[in-house]
Amino acid sequence: MKVYLNGELVDKESALISVFDHGYLYGDGVFEGIRAYNGIIFKLREHLDRLYRSAHMIMLEIPLAKVKMQEAVIATMKANNLKDAYIRVVVSRGEGDLGLDPRKCKNPNVVIITDKIVLYPQELYEKGMEIITVPTRRNIPEAINPQIKSLNYLNNILAKIEAINSGYQEAVMLNHDGLVVECTGDNIFILKENVLLTPPAYLGALKGITRDTVIELARKKGIEVKEDVITRYDLYNAQECFLTGTAAEIVPVVKIDGRVIGNGKPGKITLQLIEDFRELTIRDGVAVY
Ligand code: PMP
Repeated sequence: MKVYLNGELVDKESALISVFDHGYLYGDGVFEGIRAYNGIIFKLREHLDRLYRSAHMIMLEIPLAKVKMQEAVIATMKANNLKDAYIRVVVSRGEGDLGLDPRKCKNPNVVIITDKIVLYPQELYEKGMEIITVPTRRNIPEAINPQIKSLNYLNNILAKIEAINSGYQEAVMLNHDGLVVECTGDNIFILKENVLLTPPAYLGALKGITRDTVIELARKKGIEVKEDVITRYDLYNAQECFLTGTAAEIVPVVKIDGRVIGNGKPGKITLQLIEDFRELTIRDGVAVY
């Protein structure tokens, strides 16, 4: 496997970064997870735009222009002969000393990894997932804004651990007011009174690119979509529920905290959106080959 490291495609074993990199020492850096389907990179521009916005927010200057980054992503895919892939772009602050001061880190490290995607089993998409709410609250936007896709995912990892400890794969995270915001690596939608609802990003959710795509697909279908507050009561009484994310795509949810959602099977609108989404992914994006 070839990995892009600061302008070069090197073997995986040689793709090494200093232990003094502040990405390692402090989680000081940003990243994106991107998918390619059948040789076409889905929503590449949107992902790179978000990467550069995350970097701008933490005052990390990515040492190559967006077009060069796009070329580098394509080159890495080609070097590995991949058509269907999960692409990870990471920009860390770079090597510094043991203090926090980012000014000591003169050269950010840019890494692009392209690999085969490990999905949830197909059965899960057909039968739906069971999830729980967990005690760990989502970071408050005034502390670490969830719009920054940073290398510090401890907030999400803590929630994930709580879900795993209880025997579940995914957790619903609430914000400090107890409102539903998102899952550990996915956004959440419910169908309530035939309106598709997802929490507004300002409550503490990442504005997911899959989330935006699903909103667009749903509206095209004539389904009303609103970004609105969702309480646990709304969640438990939803007609349908699903999660969205680049890696997971659209995952139907059939039980939350022991409460059956709808009729306990993936909902009709959820299934329609899964179909529409899959269709879009195979024809929309930046062609690699
Ligand atoms: N929320 C969080 C916390 C995430 O890390 C992600 C991405 N894995 C998402 C939502 C989904 O975002 P996207 O659709 O852009 O992958």
